Amino acid sequence: MNQNTKPPTEAVSRLIQELNRLPGIGPKSAQRIAFHLLRATEEQSKILAETITSVKQKTRLCSVCFNITEADPCYICRNDQREQDKICIVEQPQDILAMENIKVYRGLYHVLHGAISPTEGIGTNDIKINELMSRLQDNTVKEIILATNPNTEGEQTALYLQRLILPLGIKVTRLARGLPFGSELEYADDITLTRAIEGRQEF
Ligand SMILES: [Zn+2]
Repeated sequence: MNQNTKPPTEAVSRLIQELNRLPGIGPKSAQRIAFHLLRATEEQSKILAETITSVKQKTRLCSVCFNITEADPCYICRNDQREQDKICIVEQPQDILAMENIKVYRGLYHVLHGAISPTEGIGTNDIKINELMSRLQDNTVKEIILATNPNTEGEQTALYLQRLILPLGIKVTRLARGLPFGSELEYADDITLTRAIEGRQEF
């Protein structure tokens, strides 16, 4: 029997299937990881399983910015050293990681958890737009930086937000061009992202 095409047991087959559902893991990689896990010690696989379970149990969304956090509000929203008058709008929590890595931006964030996409049936009420608008009620915020992805959905979302926010008298900026169109923020390299935030322009 060829081990590469037919998994030996139902349990292994299920593991390969589950791994294959992860982003960036094709069938070949899924098989490789599954067989690696089979060779791991009981202790090692237990740690991995527990880590995966606890990441769901211990984390929640920040009630202010909707970042993933263990404590609510998250460490960024709690930090009064951050510039309270700027909010950077991103699509996903991992985009905050990308922005924080470059250590240029010192304001706050708001995670939309998606982008407007009529083709996928994602409308304005399906992402955290109403929650963002409530945050703008008290006039603390002076600048909104639209850091949605430089692709069709991200642009659509940025345009929609601009139309919504500009009438409030808040400055709206968009990350500078230079991020390749069709790309995603989380994969941008540090230099490109630094240039994009430093060169942001009124939108
Ligand atoms: Zn937060």
